[in-house]
Amino acid sequence: MSSSVLQEGILRGDSAGQRRAMAKAITLLESTRADHRAQGDALLTALLPHAGTAFRLGISGVPGVGKSTFIEALGLYLIEKGHRVAVLTVDPSSTVSGGSILGDKTRMEKLSVHERAYIRPSPSSGTLGGVAEKTREAMLVCEAAGYDIVIVETVGVGQSETAVSGMTDMFVLMQLPNAGDDLQAIKKGVMELADLVVINKADLDPDAATRARAQITSSLRLLGLQGHPEHVHHNEAIWHPQVIQLSALQGRGVDAFWVEVLRFQRLQTENGRLAARRQQQARAWMWERIDAGLKQRFRAHPAVRAALEDTTQQVLAGTLPASTAARQLLAIYESDAVRAEPV
Ligand code: GDP
Repeated sequence: MSSSVLQEGILRGDSAGQRRAMAKAITLLESTRADHRAQGDALLTALLPHAGTAFRLGISGVPGVGKSTFIEALGLYLIEKGHRVAVLTVDPSSTVSGGSILGDKTRMEKLSVHERAYIRPSPSSGTLGGVAEKTREAMLVCEAAGYDIVIVETVGVGQSETAVSGMTDMFVLMQLPNAGDDLQAIKKGVMELADLVVINKADLDPDAATRARAQITSSLRLLGLQGHPEHVHHNEAIWHPQVIQLSALQGRGVDAFWVEVLRFQRLQTENGRLAARRQQQARAWMWERIDAGLKQRFRAHPAVRAALEDTTQQVLAGTLPASTAARQLLAIYESDAVRAEPV
C-alpha cells in the first residue's frame, strides 16, 4: 500500500478502514528496510500537520503497581467523556528478549475492544532509542487519526522512563503505598521526571497510602528546591508536582486524577511551558537520532571497520591512548566521507 493511500485511510477512512491503515502505517514505520523508511518518512511528513493536537500522557511504574488496571479505568472514563484514546508502550524488556510484557491486549480487556480506543504494543526489537523512536512515530499516526488522548506506558527502568517523559506532555509515576518505593524512584532519578505521582491500591491500606503521600510530597519538595529555585516561593503560574491516591481496581480517584491533569494542562499552556517542552523534545529527538545514525554509519564504514580491530587491540594493550584511537578512527571516517562527497 502506498504512503498516500495509507495517509488517506488514516485521515479519512471509516472506522475499520482507519484502524487497518493505522496498523499498516505503524508496521511500515517499524520496518528497517530503506525503501520502507523512505515511504514512512513521506507518510509522517504528510501526517505531521494533522498531529500535535492530542494531550500526551506518560505513565510509568513497576510491574504489578496497577498500570493496566488504571489505564483501562482511565481510558473508559475518557471515552465516556467523548475522547478517543490511544495507548502505546515503550517496553524495555522487548529490546532484550524480543518479547513484550506491556501492551498485551488481554491486560486491558474492555478498552482493547472499544471502537474509540487504539492499543498498540511496543515494537519488539531494536535498541531502546529505536523502540522509543517508533513509539513516538506511532503517536503521531494516532494523533493524525483523531485520537486526542495518547497514553504512553512504560515499566520502571530508568532509561525507558526518561524516554517516555521525553515524548509526553505530562509524566505520571505510579507507586505502591508501602514506604521505600519512593526512595527507589529517587535513586534512579525518576522522581525528578514526575509531574504527578499516583499512589495506587490505596484501598489495601489507606493509612500507609496517606503516609506515603506525605513522604513523597516532602521528597518532591526537596527535589524541587534542589533543581528548580523558582519552586522555593510558591508560584501560582508554575506547576508543582502533586501526589494523589487512588484505587484503580475500584475506579476510585480516576476523576480526581483527571482534574489534576486538566489543571496541569491549563497551567502549562498558559505559561508557555507545554509548547516549550514539545519544542525542546523535538530538538532532542532530532539530535538523538542524528547521534544514533552517525554511530551506525561510522560502524558500517568499510575503512573504519578495517582499522577498528587493530586499533582496539592497541588500546587494550595500552600502546595507544583511547582518545587518540578515537581521533584516528574519526579521521579515517571523515577523510573518506569528504572524498565521497560530490564536488
Ligand atoms: P501492571 O503490571 O502495572 O499493569 O499491574 P496490573 O494492572 O496488572 O495490576 C496488578 C495486580 O494488582 C492485579 O491483580 C490488579 O487487579 C491489582 N490491582 C490493580 N490496581 C489495584 C488497586 O487499586 N487495588 C487493589 N487492591 N488491587 C489492584
